[in-house]
Amino acid sequence: MSEHKHVAAIIGGAVSGSEAVRVLAEKGVHCVVFEQNSRPYGKIEDGLPRWHDKQRRNEYVKIDERLDHPNVTFVPKVTLGKDLSFQELVEDWGFSVVCLANGAWRDRAIAVDGAENYAGKGIVLQNAFVYWFNHFIEAGYQGPEYTVHDGAMVVGGGLASIDVVKILQIELVRRALLEKGIEVDMHDLEKKGVAKILASHDQSMDKLGLEGCTLYYRRRPIDMPLAAIESGASEELKQKRLKIRQRILDNAQSKFLFKFQERSLPSGFVIDDDHVKGVEFIRTEIVDGRPKPIAGTEFEATSPLIISSIGSVPDRIDGLDMRGEYYTFTDWDLGTIEGYDHVFGVGNVVTGQGNIAVSRQHGEHVANWVNENFLSKREALAPAQVDNILERARALGASKGYEGRYADWIRSVMPPDMQ
Ligand SMILES: Cc1cc2nc3c(=O)[nH]c(=O)nc-3n(C[C@H](O)[C@H](O)[C@H](O)COP(=O)(O)OP(=O)(O)OC[C@H]3O[C@@H](n4cnc5c(N)ncnc54)[C@H](O)[C@@H]3O)c2cc1C
Repeated sequence: MSEHKHVAAIIGGAVSGSEAVRVLAEKGVHCVVFEQNSRPYGKIEDGLPRWHDKQRRNEYVKIDERLDHPNVTFVPKVTLGKDLSFQELVEDWGFSVVCLANGAWRDRAIAVDGAENYAGKGIVLQNAFVYWFNHFIEAGYQGPEYTVHDGAMVVGGGLASIDVVKILQIELVRRALLEKGIEVDMHDLEKKGVAKILASHDQSMDKLGLEGCTLYYRRRPIDMPLAAIESGASEELKQKRLKIRQRILDNAQSKFLFKFQERSLPSGFVIDDDHVKGVEFIRTEIVDGRPKPIAGTEFEATSPLIISSIGSVPDRIDGLDMRGEYYTFTDWDLGTIEGYDHVFGVGNVVTGQGNIAVSRQHGEHVANWVNENFLSKREALAPAQVDNILERARALGASKGYEGRYADWIRSVMPPDMQ
């Protein structure tokens, strides 16, 4: 039988969830990690493009080390809101604390009237597209398939949208060169850039008959969130950051040869046969940092591949209220949620920042706070309660084929050719 102790439920085992686990498990709190996928690597595996090969491997190892701990029960292939209801989790299981570390997996929709009627009808979403790029090279890949058409368009503007246009240009050129019998590795194309690789083979976009893709952004290059401007930054520092933003875009364009349309705000879709075939735009001017449409500047662009890359927000979970795009957080530092004193948001789900270090630090911060200021004031669970929770978790894991040994499980669910 177990001893008196606290038991935490962690939803999502990736960067932030596993970091919260590390802190709590070391303090003697037992952590039950419910992860929707077979593997717990989240955006490291499915978001961060696979040219970051070393960084991805390092993060896999760190996540594995944190989760392969005697104070951790891993429960894979269980999605909160589907296999396990939110109410059941917070009210019925009896956990001392619940940490939502489930990230931001819902792509924002392009904000035009009636957009909801065209979901899945011609617009490709960034998360699915990057997932495809990271996995399509695996022999056993069974996910969505995309064709990298020339002339693709990307609506976006953040760092992730630069990754999306890089993927498009790299794959477009790699495939076009291959047709000419020239085999180039994806990593070389990313490292040296499309322009240099083409030149080294005495080729160009024109010679290959390629137009390339275009990134459409509603504001100016200096407004792109490619370099953060800290609140309270001096005017001098602000100007420096604006220049960096412009430079990041210029460098990416000269290296990867994509086109850029600034101050282009989507205002409607071009529809054909009930499918989105293009986007109607209107030019903007920037007034007080906001894009203001300029009447009479409407234009439309059509493309066989339209990708929406305008940021991700947390997925809806049945039974968990939302305020706008986020859960009903009452404290954005600790991720506390309205109506529940023992539920906390951890990592990207609350920071809103697509950044590994920020997610990890937030996981550590919240877990330390929870341990020192919340669990320390609560009575630990009685041994029978601990056993009951762990037995339930073990049974749920077993129903998904998980036999309780983390390292064995990971070995069995790791495709041999996964990057
Ligand atoms: C294209 C792209 C490029 C990026 N480039 C960089 C970069 O260069 N540098 C950088 O620092 N960051 C980058 N990031 C961001 C970075 O990868 C993420 O911010 C970070 O990994 C998020 O970690 P997290 O643990 O907070 O969330 P996630 O990694 O999203 O983890 C959430 C976990 O919860 C699980 N989950 C979700 N919903 C449920 C549910 N209902 N039930 C159970 N489990 C669930 C998921 O499967 C996942 O394992 C990039 C992201 C993208 C998309």
